[in-house]
Amino acid sequence: MTLPGRELCCKDACSNSIPQNLAAERLCLDHFLDEAFRRTEESLERCRAGQAIDSKRLEWLLADALTIVNGLDNQPGERTQDQQDRMLELLLILANLHEHVAAGSMRVMRPA
Ligand SMILES: [Zn+2]
Repeated sequence: MTLPGRELCCKDACSNSIPQNLAAERLCLDHFLDEAFRRTEESLERCRAGQAIDSKRLEWLLADALTIVNGLDNQPGERTQDQQDRMLELLLILANLHEHVAAGSMRVMRPA
């Protein structure tokens, strides 16, 4: 049993602890950022290829952005400059993605 709040990242060979706002993801900040970048890049590629993005996926990406925004004020001393830069970069990419959707240049597929 691990103590609440001191759980370790679920990735193999990673022993970083999980920040409180990422408890549901069971990932440390570095691995969360890796995953979030990958999901966002995939969605942007679909957009460039003229494919629709499904609304669930879009919500998921938005949730990533919120997690990051909430995390920005949280324990700033525990993050490296590199992590801080990656968080801001991801936010910019996500903002871009949402602009595509808002401008109608990205089709959103709604589950029936
Ligand atoms: Zn990790």
